[in-house]
Amino acid sequence: MTIQLQYSAKQQALRGEIRQWLQDNLPKEALPSYDTAAGFEAHRQWERTLHSGRWSMVTWPEEFGGRGLDLIEWLIFEEEYYRVDAPGRVNQNGVFLFGPTLMEYGTPEQKARFLPRLASGEDIWAQVWSEPQAGSDLAALRSTAVRDGDHYIVNGHKIWSTRAVFADWGFGLFRTDPTSERHCGLSYIVFPLDTPGVRIRGIPQLDGGAGFAEIFFEDARIPIENLVGAEGQGWSIAMATAGFERGLMLRSPARFQRTAQRLVELLRSAGMRSDPSIEASVTQAWMDAEAYSLATYMTASRLISGGSIGAEASLNKVFWSELDLAMHRTAIQILGAAAELRSHLGRDGTPALKDVTRWMDGFLFSLAGPIYAGANEIQRNIIAERVLGMPKV
Ligand SMILES: Cc1cc2nc3c(=O)[nH]c(=O)nc-3n(C[C@H](O)[C@H](O)[C@H](O)COP(=O)(O)OP(=O)(O)OC[C@H]3O[C@@H](n4cnc5c(N)ncnc54)[C@H](O)[C@@H]3O)c2cc1C
Repeated sequence: MTIQLQYSAKQQALRGEIRQWLQDNLPKEALPSYDTAAGFEAHRQWERTLHSGRWSMVTWPEEFGGRGLDLIEWLIFEEEYYRVDAPGRVNQNGVFLFGPTLMEYGTPEQKARFLPRLASGEDIWAQVWSEPQAGSDLAALRSTAVRDGDHYIVNGHKIWSTRAVFADWGFGLFRTDPTSERHCGLSYIVFPLDTPGVRIRGIPQLDGGAGFAEIFFEDARIPIENLVGAEGQGWSIAMATAGFERGLMLRSPARFQRTAQRLVELLRSAGMRSDPSIEASVTQAWMDAEAYSLATYMTASRLISGGSIGAEASLNKVFWSELDLAMHRTAIQILGAAAELRSHLGRDGTPALKDVTRWMDGFLFSLAGPIYAGANEIQRNIIAERVLGMPKV
């Protein structure tokens, strides 16, 4: 087999096209946080703009608003996207998690109904899985969806649903067989978040954002055509979604390469190159971001050749979440007390202050990396058992 280490002419042309489009269309000012009502709508508008250029999800088939590009081309898109600090994707749960899941498990009617609106940002999606007693142990979930004619009657309590305060639709996991235990009897059901009987309560976040929510279901009626896959198949479909989440698409390497680049710039501007421990941390961050990129190119090439992502997705998730945390910790060390300037001052301040704010916001968010998309302790259990073949504890 020949290993291709250069980008092809077609890939280079694509890179040029993306770069030009971003240059022409990127908002002149950074958008407000999508964890605020105004910021959420500004980001929704950006999703529309991306869609109008057919860049909202480049790997999706053209019939659903994509370009049918392969995963290497997607990585190129991501590199260009992060290079110019383009806005965060407010619909990332829809675009990267629910969309691919629906393409695999949805009916043709469901695909036609949901995917175009998802791609264009008309509908922003929230993941509605976790419960107060069912996070790491998701199979312990207790919320029920009981069949009543052509509807499910849904009751229960979900929590930690990202941006559900502002989003339009949720993809949820419910127990359709209330007598069932653990992974059996679960179903994957989608619903509008403004369904009567669905009550959303925001959870204030460490960084002041207000998008996180808990969701209460009180006899909410959801039509049975909103069931994805077969009744009782929810666990395997959810695991497919989780595979997309951890394995490849949620956190592309470009995100971390850009942070590593900013870290080098920060080190230079702070004049701290004489501190060997800080310099070593920055160098390590740079190398780790490059290593993550190369590993992702390898995974993408394998998938293009017909391979699949298995339990090694957990290795990926542990790596990027710890890398993100390490990079932001180093930045906060470099900034020292100045990092505290973030409050008020940075929001409307000079570019230098705004950058401090960005590092501090990034640091606070990076603390969540080892928890969301499956806590790292759980990922390590998966790696031990399914990648290394160690005995179950
Ligand atoms: C920023 C963020 C966004 C999120 N977004 C969403 C969302 O959109 N939708 C959604 O449904 N959920 C979301 N979550 C929830 C997330 O999936 C859960 O927080 C996560 O699965 C952990 O569950 P938990 O919080 O209940 O912690 P717990 O499961 O109670 O775990 C607490 C601690 O115990 C450890 N632990 C638990 N079991 C074991 C074990 N068997 N072995 C070793 N250690 C163990 C965990 O690793 C963790 O450190 C989000 C979480 C965060 C932080």
